[in-house]
Amino acid sequence: MKTIIIKFGGSSLSNPGRIRRAAAMVLQERRRGLRPVAVVSAPADSTDDLLKLAALAGGEKRSARETDALLAAGEQFSAALMAMALEAEGARAVSLTGAQAGIRTNSSFGAAEVLRADVRRLRRELAAGRIPVVAGFQGVSAAGDTTTLGRGGSDLTAVVLAGALRSELCEFRTDVKGVYTAHPAIVPDARKLEQISYAGLIALAELGAEVRQLRAVKYAAKRGIRLHLRSSFHDEPGTLVTAGAPAGPSCLSLKRAGGNALVSLVGSGLSRELQAEALAAAKAAGLRASAAGRGARYLTLKTPAGSGESLLRALHELFFSGQGAHH
Ligand code: ASP
Ligand code: MG
Repeated sequence: MKTIIIKFGGSSLSNPGRIRRAAAMVLQERRRGLRPVAVVSAPADSTDDLLKLAALAGGEKRSARETDALLAAGEQFSAALMAMALEAEGARAVSLTGAQAGIRTNSSFGAAEVLRADVRRLRRELAAGRIPVVAGFQGVSAAGDTTTLGRGGSDLTAVVLAGALRSELCEFRTDVKGVYTAHPAIVPDARKLEQISYAGLIALAELGAEVRQLRAVKYAAKRGIRLHLRSSFHDEPGTLVTAGAPAGPSCLSLKRAGGNALVSLVGSGLSRELQAEALAAAKAAGLRASAAGRGARYLTLKTPAGSGESLLRALHELFFSGQGAHH
């Protein structure tokens, strides 16, 4: 039977009620006929809290090994609670540390590289009918020490396991419903994308938008691991990440850079003409903007920080909602 990886972000695990809701989503996937493997982040802001504790106890020169030993505890906390929540629903589950799940890394504490995943234990647990709940963001070095994979690293755990288990799909359940044409808090008529390409998602991550960990997306792209970015609060489909996606504009991102705001259009085959249209739309909206970069997958305009949101709305109107929108 095929497996599915379901990874939960920290805000989806911030209290026992949310953990139980996440557990119910895992069981729902099982009823649909796939064998779920859950991968969990530390609850909410607990990684930041642990880092503050580390600084208080050990100061700036503290050992990187001990920092990783401490940080790994956050994800282990989530994993054990999630396994309990699954068992409370009558399922059989087992929490696993990164080491127990076979995530082997080098010894670069704080940003360890995954060397390989030895998934024999995971396969045994699956064969025995248990739902594995893996603590994300951590692995073990050849010396047997606990390592962590860099901030956002539980995304990497998820895709590495999806690759090693040849999973059908790797789902990311978070507090956002998917990738939108623009941030819905700023652009009320922004639409959720059904699909985005790996390249588009990589461009978004590089342009500073909050998406998945860049390393994880690159890993998935290289191996063709199918990703589904969706909500842990709603059951509706999210955004699928696939190799190809329709040509043209797919979404906009906004990023602060000192006194400026950078608004980027992400998509494929973005021409110089589109850049000229974007500049004209900015001008028509009375905004001061200039071109600040263009590649095959993105084009960026720069504007004073105070005009960033207005520029985002003007470009959204042009490319995604106005008459003659490019889609
Ligand atoms: N808890 C870690 C972090 O906040 C890892 C993760 O969430 O993916 O960076
Ligand atoms: Mg986290």
